[in-house]
Amino acid sequence: MKFVDLKAQFDAYKDEINAEISRVLESTAFINGPAVQELEERLADYVGVKHAIGCSSGTDALLIGLLSLGVGTGDEVIVPDFSFFATAETVSLLGAIPIFVDIDPETFNIDPDSIAAAITDRTVGVIPVSLFGQTSEMDAVTKIASENDLWVMEDAAQSFGAEYRGKKSCDLSPIAATSFFPAKPLGCYGDGGAIFTSNDAIAERVRMLVNHGQKQRYEHHLVGTNGRLDTLQAAILKVKLRHFDDELQQRQEIADWYDRLLKDTATVPVVRAGHTSVWAQYTVRIPNRDEVRSALQERGIPTSIHYPRPLHRQPAFSNHRQYNDELLHTERATVEVLSLPMHPFLSRNDVDTIATAIKEVLHAGN
Ligand SMILES: *Cc1c(COP(=O)(O)O)cnc(C)c1O
Repeated sequence: MKFVDLKAQFDAYKDEINAEISRVLESTAFINGPAVQELEERLADYVGVKHAIGCSSGTDALLIGLLSLGVGTGDEVIVPDFSFFATAETVSLLGAIPIFVDIDPETFNIDPDSIAAAITDRTVGVIPVSLFGQTSEMDAVTKIASENDLWVMEDAAQSFGAEYRGKKSCDLSPIAATSFFPAKPLGCYGDGGAIFTSNDAIAERVRMLVNHGQKQRYEHHLVGTNGRLDTLQAAILKVKLRHFDDELQQRQEIADWYDRLLKDTATVPVVRAGHTSVWAQYTVRIPNRDEVRSALQERGIPTSIHYPRPLHRQPAFSNHRQYNDELLHTERATVEVLSLPMHPFLSRNDVDTIATAIKEVLHAGN
């Protein structure tokens, strides 16, 4: 059994993908080839924003997004303590200070009240992370941000395709970043990402920043980087985007099936009213998580821990522990969460096997 079965997905779309790859190889337009612009147009349409700009990874999308907002030395940026490292890493890399705040224990997403409590004179913005496939309570986040003159940038690395009150993730803040890392809901065959915005001025800056600050060749208006999406990855993503909504439906059915089988055994994920999830992860809470995890491993069932350590206790941040409270919900989540296999090609039979194994392991422990 695989945690994410990328081979089954490739087998399903093989002919289409090989045709697209071969078109790029024949054209030799490896950098900024036509597939990049075609993909960007389709991504923008899909999300419902004016501009989508391909990037070399989700991390670069966050970094370039922060650059486009003018984030720099000494600025404070509020981030959830429970996320992948890149959310805070990119802030730090620009000389700004990530301020870690706690999460809502039910959804694992940033707690809007904690944002309000963490604002200082130096706060410039907030990065709500749409963890495991569901966005934060974006209306509450936006309200606090606008009352305090802060920007909001959604870290939508795990939520591309999700909806919140009838709008898509990546269209819920003036700028948003996603990732096309292979195991993300919409993944390519290497690194990739994108930035989304309906603001023409931000889009113009981002387009320059991903390409060495150039407006035209060898005319550099900004100090940027090489953050472009490869043509090959764009071509692969064009194919995967065609199948994406069907895949999301499959993911939803698998999540429903897990819910039914596990709701009396573990704390199953909560999707709030007004939200849909793209199930980047199906993550349960189990008190004796580590024992359950190794027992499942012995039975050939792969699981994963997202994430085993709060960001504020990462060694890289040991010099600037910037957080207000004790971040108790994050601490507790790091010891209880367990992500189960989740991908559109997971069979019902596999879900049955996983659920039965979890029940047996928990019973044996009692
Ligand atoms: C995956 C991920 C990223 C980084 O994306 P990459 O494409 O791997 O650079 C950033 N934030 C979150 C929440 C992620 O899950």
